[in-house]
Amino acid sequence: MPSETPLTVDDFDAIAYRAAALDDPTPVVAELIAAVERGPVEDDETAAHAFILAAEITERAGDLPGALGYARRATEVPGEDGLARAGYAELLVKSGREKEGRELFDALRPELLQDPHAPAYVGEALDACGLGAVAEEWLSVAARTIVEENQFGPEDDSDDLGVLDLLFAVLTERHRIRESMEFPHDELDGLFHEMEDALDEDEPVESGQALLYWPEAELAQVLQRWPERADIYGLDWLDHRTNVERTLAAWSSTGVTRIALIPGSMAGLLAYAAEAGVDPGDREAQADYAADRADGGELTEWPPQRNGACWCASGAKYKKCCLPRSRA
Ligand SMILES: [Zn+2]
Ligand SMILES: [Zn+2]
Repeated sequence: MPSETPLTVDDFDAIAYRAAALDDPTPVVAELIAAVERGPVEDDETAAHAFILAAEITERAGDLPGALGYARRATEVPGEDGLARAGYAELLVKSGREKEGRELFDALRPELLQDPHAPAYVGEALDACGLGAVAEEWLSVAARTIVEENQFGPEDDSDDLGVLDLLFAVLTERHRIRESMEFPHDELDGLFHEMEDALDEDEPVESGQALLYWPEAELAQVLQRWPERADIYGLDWLDHRTNVERTLAAWSSTGVTRIALIPGSMAGLLAYAAEAGVDPGDREAQADYAADRADGGELTEWPPQRNGACWCASGAKYKKCCLPRSRA
């Protein structure tokens, strides 16, 4: 019986997540496609997201032509915002169809001066198919164009937040790509760091904060022993990581800097509770254990690099693993 509740980004992410454990993810891709075709889907962006997920999984499984087909379908969703076209262009170049891919990238280039999301998705897609140098050039030209047209520096109290957002997005992606190419800092990289510092000062800065999370095996033990603690940790490993990632993203968006993750362990919790003379299943005792671990425990900085290993130890890149869990 088809469900009438529209499918969300989370629903598709939950399906796609299961592909990570499979040698052959074909059934998961088939399920994604069946779900998006059957619908109803929350909105067009969500439908495009489903096809992009199918393309990513298929590419990871080594089927480039298959991935290309799903990426093309993502571009055919009405109201697609450029992200899907960038992904399709990337796969075209990777498939040896460089001319077509480059044409598609060329068509997206004006977005760098329009859409604050574009620098990241255009830059990453170019970078991923070996065109990092093109990305660096385009982002440099875009940054200079914005600076020249607006005549402001980092000290300026410009009211035009849209332009500042766009400039910061361009400079951020440019800086990331130049670092990966091991370019020395130039004036625009300097401007990026000045803007970054200025943004930090604008926000209520809290000193570092750490969040306790349970690695997969530990979480299983905790939830088996105290199922009621699903109220704070989530129902399962997927749910737990979504909660953690959302909490940290929320902290970050309110200006908390120097965020860290601390892995908890059942053995550590039991030892802590025994020493403190408290019930280890108690909600408050677990919060105290987390606070205790935050003082001097092993900390993992968050967020990881987008292309670096995810903090959850899944083995996948952060941008393909827990990063998207904070969305929607
Ligand atoms: Zn730097
Ligand atoms: Zn992860």
